[in-house]
Amino acid sequence: MSVCIKSLIQNLNLVIGCNIGCSYCYARTNVRRFHMTEDFAKPEYFPGKLRLLARPRPQNLFLTGMSDFARWAPAWREEIFAAMARNPQHQYIFLTKRPEEISFSTTLDNVWFGVTVTSSRETGRIQALREHIRGGHYHVTFEPLFDDPGQVDLAGIEWVVIGTETGRRKGKAVTHPAWVHSLTRQAQNQGTPVFMKEDLLPILGEEQMIQQLPPAMDRVWEEQKAWQKQPKTEF
Ligand code: SF4
Repeated sequence: MSVCIKSLIQNLNLVIGCNIGCSYCYARTNVRRFHMTEDFAKPEYFPGKLRLLARPRPQNLFLTGMSDFARWAPAWREEIFAAMARNPQHQYIFLTKRPEEISFSTTLDNVWFGVTVTSSRETGRIQALREHIRGGHYHVTFEPLFDDPGQVDLAGIEWVVIGTETGRRKGKAVTHPAWVHSLTRQAQNQGTPVFMKEDLLPILGEEQMIQQLPPAMDRVWEEQKAWQKQPKTEF
């Protein structure tokens, strides 16, 4: 049975805000609705949340749920990566739509750098990711999808996530099943795990859903399941 990706990967929004300006941005809508910051177009850093990394129980943490890694200030990146180095129990996941703006490297192995590709015109971002960010692991998220990305160069990509636009935006993009199957085939041909997000369920049907994590994230998830079964007093 398919699951919500948020049950496997938790958001930790150390930075809130982004000035890339995607029309379909759900983070902007939520930040404005709940008045989380004054101006979503001005990314803000919340260093107080770094203490949450010190939790001993491992988590798969998505750090760019309300921001874009390319628009983080270098000083923020430095401080956050230093905290990550002190807390190797977690897997850390990042996404960007502007890999060409970054020049970044890390020696940490539990870091996942990814690009979002939403159309055939944006597949070049995958090469930009490989060129501009060194170290860790690479992944690609295809969501939302406005057309068929076609044949994609997935060399070195260790995880592929596919979704469709969520929310109630007028004229929102709907991912075509054939695009999902094509991307899945390409990833599977090279042994790369594929995760179809839960919103694809009504489009594909349960039998077609594939939800795989890379082994390192899978290990964390298995550990989480084990401690979730423990009585609260043992936390
Ligand atoms: S890059 Fe992400 S956070 Fe930034 S506007 Fe686009 S969807 Fe929103």
